[in-house]
Amino acid sequence: MPPEPFFAGPGIDRADALRNRPEAVAALLASPDARALAWDGGVPALDSMGALRWGEVRGDETLFLGLDNGAPRFATLPESVAGPEARSLLAQLDRDDAPLFAAALSLSSWHLRHGFCSVCGAASAMVRGGWARRCPSCDAEHYPRVDPVVIMLATFEDRLLLGRQPQYPPGRYSALAGFVEPGETIEAAVARELGEEAGIAVTDVHYLASQPWPFPSSLMIGCTATATGDALTIDHDELDDARWFSRDEVIAALAGDANAAFLPPPRFAIARTLLDHWIGDA
Ligand SMILES: [Zn+2]
Repeated sequence: MPPEPFFAGPGIDRADALRNRPEAVAALLASPDARALAWDGGVPALDSMGALRWGEVRGDETLFLGLDNGAPRFATLPESVAGPEARSLLAQLDRDDAPLFAAALSLSSWHLRHGFCSVCGAASAMVRGGWARRCPSCDAEHYPRVDPVVIMLATFEDRLLLGRQPQYPPGRYSALAGFVEPGETIEAAVARELGEEAGIAVTDVHYLASQPWPFPSSLMIGCTATATGDALTIDHDELDDARWFSRDEVIAALAGDANAAFLPPPRFAIARTLLDHWIGDA
């Protein structure tokens, strides 16, 4: 079975061909099926079942999110986006709505932080149904950021390398991760990050699955790699600790065993998907 990350879908029809036609977007906004995403304190509002809440459109919604079974879905740009609060909603978010939650959050966050042209400094304006900005002064177009992050499980003789970041809750260990840098392949970023953070060399880097992480705009690229040795040199500026765990230790942790060697990442983190896949449970 291929791994299925929390944000895997189904999502909605993004209808990108319509975005470039302002009259088509205006007609969709005026249609009786149109609905607007409800915001609550800078985060998308959820109902008691964890689904996104939708309300009547007011007519001034500027973000065209797409078509849900043909019904137009819009959002206003909120005054601010509350990242930590949004993150705390993931535990209750319905996974069917996770892609749209991520899109609305990342897109809004990008608009709020990119109001000015990065070429000439003039105030830019939203275009393409909210999926781009254009500068009226120099005509440059700017597109929403997606920041690639590699996150990987390195193995050595049926043991798995996991690490702890200082901000994790007590006992939690997870996959190591880091941003892909300009001029770098995914494979090179995996090898570099494992070298920098844990002091290991790896071969056989393989892609497994990806998911958006809208805090504010990461794309987590899940990979596996094979270590050439198990001696660790931990970068304590990045990590509290890193350790090799046996398959039995990982199985016990994922099963929620009270005596497990570590606390696993939550179900909405792709690290959890990678761990489930590694023990053959994905
Ligand atoms: Zn400009």
